[in-house]
Amino acid sequence: MTAPRPRPEVLEISPYIGGESTIPGINRTIKLSSNEGAFGVPPDAQAAFVAMAGQLHRYPDGSAHDLRRAIGAKFGLDPERIVCGAGSDDILYQLCLAYGGPGTEIIMSAHGFSIYQIAGTYSGASVLKTPERNLTADVDAMLAAVSPATRILFLANPNNPTGSMLAHDEVVRLRAGLPPDVLLVLDAAYAEYVTHPDYDAGVKLVDAGDNTVMTRTFSKIFGLGGMRIGWAYAPPAVIDVLNRVRGPFNVSIAAQAAAIAALNQPGWIEASRAHNSEYRAILTTRLRQAGIKVWPSEGNFVLAEFTGPDQAAAANAFLRARGLIVRMVGGYGLPHCLRITVGTAEEVGLVADALDAFMATQNV
Ligand SMILES: *Cc1c(COP(=O)(O)O)cnc(C)c1O
Repeated sequence: MTAPRPRPEVLEISPYIGGESTIPGINRTIKLSSNEGAFGVPPDAQAAFVAMAGQLHRYPDGSAHDLRRAIGAKFGLDPERIVCGAGSDDILYQLCLAYGGPGTEIIMSAHGFSIYQIAGTYSGASVLKTPERNLTADVDAMLAAVSPATRILFLANPNNPTGSMLAHDEVVRLRAGLPPDVLLVLDAAYAEYVTHPDYDAGVKLVDAGDNTVMTRTFSKIFGLGGMRIGWAYAPPAVIDVLNRVRGPFNVSIAAQAAAIAALNQPGWIEASRAHNSEYRAILTTRLRQAGIKVWPSEGNFVLAEFTGPDQAAAANAFLRARGLIVRMVGGYGLPHCLRITVGTAEEVGLVADALDAFMATQNV
């Protein structure tokens, strides 16, 4: 062997496949494949980004002081218990590298968000996937998978790509059943969209102990996926760890400015959440009327289930021919499903019309 070799577990990782954004030969494409907010970039965030252009020779504030204060003010949290990252993926990676590693185990549910598997494997840990009930994380199955080697349990709540949510009392039961030295990571990327009364994004459990972390993102409701900004709310000891291992300048100067402006954009969350609730219901109803099974969702997307992988692939091809890009989720063990982001009113109408037309071709 003469060529440089990575650690063997690295070659077990399948690269993350993001949502496509273009279709060759089609001019106007509508992208409903990455759960980016329906309303695009908040106007004040665009202005803040442009205003930073003359400052780009400066390193960012590595501690993201002003951004942490703005997050704390918006969500009623202590800025000292917040760490920012280049997307929440950055934080998920750092947690795996810091708390996982060779000889350890990381638990996630069968159809949980794929970054946990990638980052966990990268750390050298074994990633165990536990069975779900009705495409929802099963607390008992997760607890049954715990061993002395377990270091982290990841729960996306609501989960992507299924849209399913665990009520707060179930998450409390999960925490109570875990050994105290297991880090529970509550990934609340879609928290701002949730209207369910039994939901808590994770703040209560973070505050209640020293072994639970909540991660959040600016990539979904705040419309800043391209800027790469996320954050964690965590107990002091975990904050200390993250500040030791994260990249010293992991959030760019422009990203920090845009995120602060997005947080302060008046009415943004409320309008986005109201639109999402209304149009997620419309999309769900219309797909069900067309004869497609749609799983309940608390996120800004729905999971549409077809009769099998062939029908899902045919539906996907039918949509693509009309410029509509949705997400195939075979990589999540759901080859008979498509994940569809809730877009604007027009986009929801177009994708529902197209799937209606597709289903009409199926029953002949
Ligand atoms: C989109 C998403 C994220 C956010 O990733 P970023 O790196 O912040 O863009 C995290 N977790 C889940 C479950 C997601 O769907």
